[in-house]
Amino acid sequence: MKNDNCIFCKIAAGEIPSKTLYEDEQFRVILDLGPAAKGHALILPKEHYANIYEIPDEVAASAMKLAKKMAGVITEKLNCDGFNIVQNNGVVAGQTVFHFHMHLIPRYEDDGQTIGWNPGEPTQEELEEIKNLITG
Ligand code: AMP
Ligand code: ZN
Repeated sequence: MKNDNCIFCKIAAGEIPSKTLYEDEQFRVILDLGPAAKGHALILPKEHYANIYEIPDEVAASAMKLAKKMAGVITEKLNCDGFNIVQNNGVVAGQTVFHFHMHLIPRYEDDGQTIGWNPGEPTQEELEEIKNLITG
């Protein structure tokens, strides 16, 4: 299923040009236009799934395998010092394009980026309560 109003559907289908690093039947991997660091790429499924909740298990599994493969290639070719894989779901989580994608972000010693969060300090009781909410 494609979505006529979705820019990533059009890019994945090759209807809008992109700097494509890899393509197969299921995916296109492109360079991000607003990179966090040199070589920041996006894995786009060719089918339209808005987010992690919609993507089928098999496609999700293939996307992760491709992420591993591309991380290896990008690391070798660009000689980066580390790697972040990021996948945002929902506005509050920073998602701006509502077509599932995985960010492949090479990291360099001096890249000046921070991809992270402010760690909380929950008590053991709070952790227990959350564990019970999720597993109960
Ligand atoms: P997210 O915030 O996780 O939804 O990520 C969307 C990403 O898509 C951002 O990093 C944008 O820089 C990138 N982006 C948006 N439009 C394009 C485009 N036409 N080509 C390549 N990357 C894009
Ligand atoms: Zn789409």
